[in-house]
Amino acid sequence: MSRPKTDRDVYQPRETIKNGSDYLESLRDGRTVIYHGETVDDVTRHPAFAPYARVIARIYDVIASEESLLYTTETGAQAFVPYLLPQNVEDLKRIREAMERIHALSAGMIVQGPEYKGPVISGLGAAGPYFVPYQDNVARFYTVVRDRRLYPGNAFTDPQIDRSKRPSELANPDLVLRVVQERDDGVIIRGAKMVSTAAPFNHEMLILRYGGAHRLTPEDADYAFIGAVPLNAPGLKVFSRQSFRPPVADPLDAPFSTLFDDNDSFLFFDDVFVPWERVFVYRDPEKADNWLSQTNMAVQLVYGDLIRWQTKFAFYTALAVKVAKANGTIGFRGQQERLGELVAWTQMMKALVYAAETKAVPYYQGVMPNPEIVLTFRALRPMIYKRVVELVQEIAGSGAATLLSSLKDLESVPEIVEFVRGAAVDGLERTKLYKVVWDVVHSDFASRSELTERLHTGNTGDVLIQLFFGAQGMGLDAHYDQVMEQVEKLIREV
Ligand SMILES: Cc1cc2nc3c(=O)[nH]c(=O)nc-3n(C[C@H](O)[C@H](O)[C@H](O)COP(=O)(O)OP(=O)(O)OC[C@H]3O[C@@H](n4cnc5c(N)ncnc54)[C@H](O)[C@@H]3O)c2cc1C
Repeated sequence: MSRPKTDRDVYQPRETIKNGSDYLESLRDGRTVIYHGETVDDVTRHPAFAPYARVIARIYDVIASEESLLYTTETGAQAFVPYLLPQNVEDLKRIREAMERIHALSAGMIVQGPEYKGPVISGLGAAGPYFVPYQDNVARFYTVVRDRRLYPGNAFTDPQIDRSKRPSELANPDLVLRVVQERDDGVIIRGAKMVSTAAPFNHEMLILRYGGAHRLTPEDADYAFIGAVPLNAPGLKVFSRQSFRPPVADPLDAPFSTLFDDNDSFLFFDDVFVPWERVFVYRDPEKADNWLSQTNMAVQLVYGDLIRWQTKFAFYTALAVKVAKANGTIGFRGQQERLGELVAWTQMMKALVYAAETKAVPYYQGVMPNPEIVLTFRALRPMIYKRVVELVQEIAGSGAATLLSSLKDLESVPEIVEFVRGAAVDGLERTKLYKVVWDVVHSDFASRSELTERLHTGNTGDVLIQLFFGAQGMGLDAHYDQVMEQVEKLIREV
């Protein structure tokens, strides 16, 4: 664990990822991904990873082929629009439309695709003044990721281990990621970060800090680190969770989990060298703790989800309508109420996106979506998502649990087709429909989707408390006093 790493080669900028085949080739870079007790030789060919890699490759092809998805940067590069530093509401609209185009390719099921990181990385680039004296490093990182069209990930959550202790209070100080050695040319980091979605498919890992309720103290200075490393950095080990692609006889038995499962991963930094030009915060507990609130990066982290949910909820609503029609329940009042609620949640997402965009506020040298609106979405997302899934499950009923094992069963015993038919659809169509229902609201993939949609931008309690403290800052006490002054005046006067 203590061997020093000096390999600087991996820090040479990559070639620009111009299309899908460049993307697939770029993943064959010597990265260490661990799965089922083995080191994966090539994620683009391994069954637990290949379908998602190919979907991302397809997204790269779409980016390359559609003019509206690219723009020319000040360096002359052709960059992906979500990486634009927005200067006005028009730019935000352009970013949103580019994201919507990508979301449409997966019905919003890919949580952290290449477009999601656009506002995160451009927000980082804009927030340079926060990162003094490392502001030039942040700006360079933004430019490299943007101009080379890289697909970055982010890892900010410390491993849970013992949340009642600060990292330096743990019996083993090496568990939570920290700097263990300072050298002339950079630092060595050691320890773990708990979650990074899609890490096996990323080019760069942005390492941040979110340790939960604990603030770092001067004794935790080694843990006060923010920076970035490439996925093939020697010593970085990516442990993917179990893939949620079920073994299927026909790909349409589980179409969404087959294509879009994005392998959340546990990251172990086994003495990884980080050159100084990749260090953004160093031994500064306040900066390491406050980046999320003081740079308003929370807004950038959540914004892509808000935009994506319009697409995802529109699909859930359409699916629920299909199911209700297939089962002959579309005319029932209770079903219509549930469908109406699904429509309302979808429209609510559209309204929030529109409001966040048109009520943009200044952000360093440009603008950002309205933080009050985006952070309200962040606080309510666990409740909203749960409810939407519940509505689809209720509309669909037990059909999802009593499905044939595969569409192939219809071929092997054709007389069964008539028994699994619906009111308005034949047995094949109904089985396909319910395979989708199972896949998106019941399966392992669906359960993990729900977990990430509820939690991946912060723990439920913390984000509500942050919202409350933010509102306190906006003068809730004074508001109460004003209203009561007016009421007491009315009582005296009328
Ligand atoms: C599927 C999925 C994907 C994710 N992807 C990413 C990613 O790509 N990158 C990334 O950085 N993060 C990612 N996350 C992590 C996410 O940000 C965290 O899950 C979230 O911030 C909550 O933190 P936690 O899971 O560590 O929960 P914890 O902080 O451990 O909290 C668990 C429970 O314990 C309570 N609790 C914990 N500590 C305290 C305390 N001190 N006082 C009182 N109560 C406490 C909390 O309120 C909560 O109810 C992902 C999470 C999920 C589930």
